[in-house]
Amino acid sequence: MPNMSLEKVKMPEQEADVRNKNFKEVALGYTLEQAQEEATRCLNCRHKPCMNGCPVGVPIPEFIQHVAKGDIEAAYQTIKRENALPAICGRVCPQENQCEGKCVRAIKGEAVGIGRLERFVADYHMALNKEEKVEIEKNHHKVAIVGSGPAGITCAGELAKRGYDVTVFEALHETGGVLVYGIPEFRLPKALVAKEVDNVKKLGVHVETNVIVGRSITIDELKEEGYEAIFVGSGAGLPRFMGIPGENLNGVYAANEFLTRVNLMKAYQFPEHPTPVKISEKVAVIGGGNVAMDAARTAKRLGAKEVYIVYRRGEEELPARKEEIHHAKEEGIIFKLLNNPIAIHGEDGWVKSMECVEMTLGEPDASGRRRPVEKEGSEFLLEVGTVIEAIGQSPNPLIRQTTPGLETQKWGGIIVEEETMATSKDGVYAGGDVVTGAATVILAMGAGKNAAKAIDEALNKQ
Ligand SMILES: Cc1cc2nc3c(=O)[nH]c(=O)nc-3n(C[C@H](O)[C@H](O)[C@H](O)COP(=O)(O)OP(=O)(O)OC[C@H]3O[C@@H](n4cnc5c(N)ncnc54)[C@H](O)[C@@H]3O)c2cc1C
Repeated sequence: MPNMSLEKVKMPEQEADVRNKNFKEVALGYTLEQAQEEATRCLNCRHKPCMNGCPVGVPIPEFIQHVAKGDIEAAYQTIKRENALPAICGRVCPQENQCEGKCVRAIKGEAVGIGRLERFVADYHMALNKEEKVEIEKNHHKVAIVGSGPAGITCAGELAKRGYDVTVFEALHETGGVLVYGIPEFRLPKALVAKEVDNVKKLGVHVETNVIVGRSITIDELKEEGYEAIFVGSGAGLPRFMGIPGENLNGVYAANEFLTRVNLMKAYQFPEHPTPVKISEKVAVIGGGNVAMDAARTAKRLGAKEVYIVYRRGEEELPARKEEIHHAKEEGIIFKLLNNPIAIHGEDGWVKSMECVEMTLGEPDASGRRRPVEKEGSEFLLEVGTVIEAIGQSPNPLIRQTTPGLETQKWGGIIVEEETMATSKDGVYAGGDVVTGAATVILAMGAGKNAAKAIDEALNKQ
């Protein structure tokens, strides 16, 4: 008999008042007993709607049935067939819009905790520390991957499994992309990302860090060096700004820079690490996505007393994962919804306050969301000393500027064929945020996987 409880088994987590002062992981993960109890909530539907919501096609009911029976290794191997980074996806995928959004248990009550179970299975397997032997017959075709984020790493792993000689070129000194320099430690421990990347390296993937493609070497030069196919997964690392007066004041950060300094360069250990960020007592974060939540919760952990999320739409429209919004509220982040910044004011070159205007929601715009409209005469000042802008990113122009024949959208995204991820340039494929603009880990992984399949088909034909 399935467990008909309407609610998910609760995930143990650090107390809000404790965790908002440290960088340790917030959610602590299920025990085996809790995982098994949650797994028995799955009805093992014959038509598997949850799988339609998974961009990489994890056999969800199959792995959950293994968990219910306590065969966690079988569950792990089932997930691993389709998903190279399960410990990461279990933690950061927007499950409510994907697998769990399609779960029939969500019609009346909460969906099965698919993400929590995936995380449990991956962590359980990792804790066993099993040496996995991989023997792959090489096919002697050379492929280059640009960028070591989820798109690049997935594409690399899929090709290595098929026998390709794969080299990943990464601009930074660390591998993992946004998983390392964007998403904070308290949501995604870096040691865990390193382990998942290591698993891909064990397939024989070679990684060269500190190589900026477009500067250290171009795409055409990679071709000349004998790479028969190139996958570009260089992400969307160029921050957008509001374009309002006062953005050049000291104390204004792009969320990207702020989070990179904290995550990758350990700004919170200044002066041991020479990359300070200055946080004032009151901080405003502009935006309502995952990046905004991460920046706000990081600012709180760095000692800010009051942290505001300033977002021009309402609660319903907040694009961040539901869990992040919930955690941010618990940690004391103040949500100023239906408010839009119009100027930042300073004193002696530093931020002193942010001028905002109240908004209402009008008719739906092109995105289908109701358009925010300013309320006349509702301007007010928010006293803050730090402003962090988290309103979106676009791809860095370097690769498109140095790759003749590579067609891109006006906003910079590389144009690809939907199924194969092939670009306008022969032998060059692309996927992830560099194609879609800032999106999600699992979509980037799906793109990497599709590109690997297409590259394999193309090179096998030759
Ligand atoms: C703060 C933050 C929080 C997020 N939270 C979530 C979340 O909770 N859930 C979720 O699903 N998604 C989340 N996202 C989005 C998600 O992380 C991205 O959609 C995903 O990482 C995109 O993967 P990617 O491989 O396309 O690019 P990236 O992860 O950006 O990786 C691109 C890599 O390419 C490298 N690179 C760039 N240019 C070059 C070059 N010229 N030469 C060589 N290397 C280069 C970069 O250094 C980087 O390592 C978040 C993003 C941010 C910034």
